[in-house]
Amino acid sequence: MEEQLRTLAKMQVLDDKIGQYRALQQELPKQLNEILEQVEIATANLLTTETARAELGKKLRAIEMDIKSNQEQAKKYATQLTDIKNNKEYKALNSEISFLHDKIGDLESTELELMEEDNAFKAQIEEDKKALAKAEQLKREKEGDLRAQIDAIEGKIEETRAARNELAINLPKSVIKHYGNMIKTRNNKAVAYNREGSCDACGFNIRPQIKIELQLRRKMITCESCGRILMEHFEEL
Ligand SMILES: [Zn+2]
Repeated sequence: MEEQLRTLAKMQVLDDKIGQYRALQQELPKQLNEILEQVEIATANLLTTETARAELGKKLRAIEMDIKSNQEQAKKYATQLTDIKNNKEYKALNSEISFLHDKIGDLESTELELMEEDNAFKAQIEEDKKALAKAEQLKREKEGDLRAQIDAIEGKIEETRAARNELAINLPKSVIKHYGNMIKTRNNKAVAYNREGSCDACGFNIRPQIKIELQLRRKMITCESCGRILMEHFEEL
């Protein structure tokens, strides 16, 4: 009987390992997606900033042209001014010129604001490029390894399961069946241990008589509450 219990304990170790592989099977693709997503996000951010800067560039060029045409107009009026003899016309043209100068002044201050915005965009683009380079480097460093790990997991699970089944060959059918049921229905734990007088899986108190039987290892004992195969820890498996 002691050998059967030992075999069950070894099987549980392998099932724990399978459980860890299953958890990795969930976790690793998430890590991979996260890394790929970071590159996509960084690429999109850079594109957004570059597009915004290009839009701003269009506005800036339009304002520059506007300033230029107003300046030319003002210059033209200034030349005309020298030919005017009539005082009334002179005043009218003069106020037209000062109106143009005000307009040019307004345009120039808008131009300055836009140039400041453009500088901010330029700095932002540098930041975005750095973030993208960082995301891409992480991808280069991790993607291959993660994909290889993901691809290898199923094989490792199969290997571990085969080793567990190999151990099970030596056990009575009814014991194998109970073990299998517990693995399936009890969160991958078929074997539980006496921990300070309680089942370490469900916490149920172990009766004194059963504690003695656990020490003796002469029969298969299951937890009265969770049904798992209960045993004392082995010094060494
Ligand atoms: Zn229990």
